[in-house]
Amino acid sequence: MKFLYVSLFLSTFAFSQVEYPTDYFRSPLDIPIIPSGTFAELRTNHFHAGLDIKTQQREGLNIYTIAEGYVSRIKVSHYGYGKVIYITHPNGYTSVYGHLSSYAPTIEAYVKAKQYQQESYEVEMFPAVDELKVNADEIIAYSGNTGSSGGPHLHFEIRDQQERTINPLLFGLDVQDRKPPFVSGIYAYTKDENSFVNGKNGRVELRLIRNKNKDYNVESIDAYGTIGFGVISYDQQDLAVNQNGINGLQTFFNGHKKFEMDFNRFSFSETRHINRFLDYELYKTRRSRIQKLFVEKGNVLSLYKDLDNDGYVKVADSTASVYKIRITDFHGNETWVTVPINGKKMSKPPLSVDNTNKTYIFAEQPTNLNEKNVNVFIPANSFYEDAFIDFKVSNDTVYLHKDIIPLQKNVTIQYDVSNYKDSDIDKLYIAELIGNKQYPSYLNTKRLENKILTASSNALGTYALVMDTQGPKISALNFQDKKWLSNYRYLKFKITDDLSGISNYRATINGKWVLMEYEYKTNTLTFDFNDNVVNDTKNELKLVVTDNVGNSSTFEATFFRK
Ligand SMILES: [Zn+2]
Repeated sequence: MKFLYVSLFLSTFAFSQVEYPTDYFRSPLDIPIIPSGTFAELRTNHFHAGLDIKTQQREGLNIYTIAEGYVSRIKVSHYGYGKVIYITHPNGYTSVYGHLSSYAPTIEAYVKAKQYQQESYEVEMFPAVDELKVNADEIIAYSGNTGSSGGPHLHFEIRDQQERTINPLLFGLDVQDRKPPFVSGIYAYTKDENSFVNGKNGRVELRLIRNKNKDYNVESIDAYGTIGFGVISYDQQDLAVNQNGINGLQTFFNGHKKFEMDFNRFSFSETRHINRFLDYELYKTRRSRIQKLFVEKGNVLSLYKDLDNDGYVKVADSTASVYKIRITDFHGNETWVTVPINGKKMSKPPLSVDNTNKTYIFAEQPTNLNEKNVNVFIPANSFYEDAFIDFKVSNDTVYLHKDIIPLQKNVTIQYDVSNYKDSDIDKLYIAELIGNKQYPSYLNTKRLENKILTASSNALGTYALVMDTQGPKISALNFQDKKWLSNYRYLKFKITDDLSGISNYRATINGKWVLMEYEYKTNTLTFDFNDNVVNDTKNELKLVVTDNVGNSSTFEATFFRK
């Protein structure tokens, strides 16, 4: 702990505005903290809001409150954080613990009572200050893998009173990290048609050369005009192979600082702008996360600390310059990338791009695109900048460009389906066609009067109308009809649905609602006899599962218990 304090103190990334208490909070676990994900690391459409802590590939580890306080929020959901609990502490910070398998007994009873009262596995509650107090070192829950989690781990956050999420390591949690960040790609970007890098305009991949030490050189470039750079970089902690996020980026042009950002605090409202920070097209087409070391229009991220000319450099003719990138992790390990630049005046006739048949989008204006039975609405400022896009409708398929331009706001896709029979309209949904196989992924489809279907999407892409006429499939996983189940702890079911997907499920025993926990990753529903709602010898179980367009299937069985 002492060592950590010293290294923070020495770091040039001074946390000057806010002093975070470094000895107020304990660890939420009683095993060493090995991160499988770091704060603000780069995820799809968001920065990671917390620290992911490994739980030895197991579930059920004790989760401790990091200090005394009270339970201010509990949420159980199929996706996202799964089972999550929020503890608010006397110093004003709130700690968040996600993907839990269950809560400590008192809290678990409180949650189950709500679930039975609302007849829903998914619940959210905001207990009053004096309802569920927790003492220092109290166990509040058990680690798990619920929600959108790729394996057992604890998702852990600390938020301030403005609901901003903060790097938990700033509060003195102890993590070992002696490895410097590493770099796997570097790119130059020309700002306009009068700037060039190695004779080219646009994004130019540069050749990275690893030095004998941990740092990197880049093969010298010829450039002219206003240019920026982008870097692909990750960090690793000791004892883990995970490619995690870095903590800071700085750049220097001939020794002058041009750009600085750190990854220590952000608001949820800004997190989607990660699509502006990264090179969205390269992420979507090649899964490469290039972090741009310059800031473009509409990017309001608060992670930027110091900018000169938005991070761009101006290269004049017949000059020799050096551009340097400093990449740091939280523990102050650093990696440098050096780019020698030869200023070389170039002029080229502007590329003539053929934009016939393209649709021009004025970023600052709302746009309605109409063709055949389809209307697409693009709200003002959905695009960061004006763009030519492809738009075409044929056979109920909407081609709305490709998902290579980031959106700040969702677009709405509307179909007039009056050419369909009424009975068919009920079974239609709007799908986004995903991947090479064009899988028809369900979009939340609303039915308006006048036979209009509407859905919103957070990305450009291809959309289609799909008909789903089949109900979900239900099967019992661990029991059979008309059997004695006296020694059973659980009843387990597998539920799946082709096309539109599962919307809801409802189980009763002897006509009374019972709690089924749904795990979408394994397509299972689980009932726990420890809920103590089954007291009869002969029991009639009924399970109804409904898909997203309203097709239902029913499973019924009789079982006995004593
Ligand atoms: Zn996480």
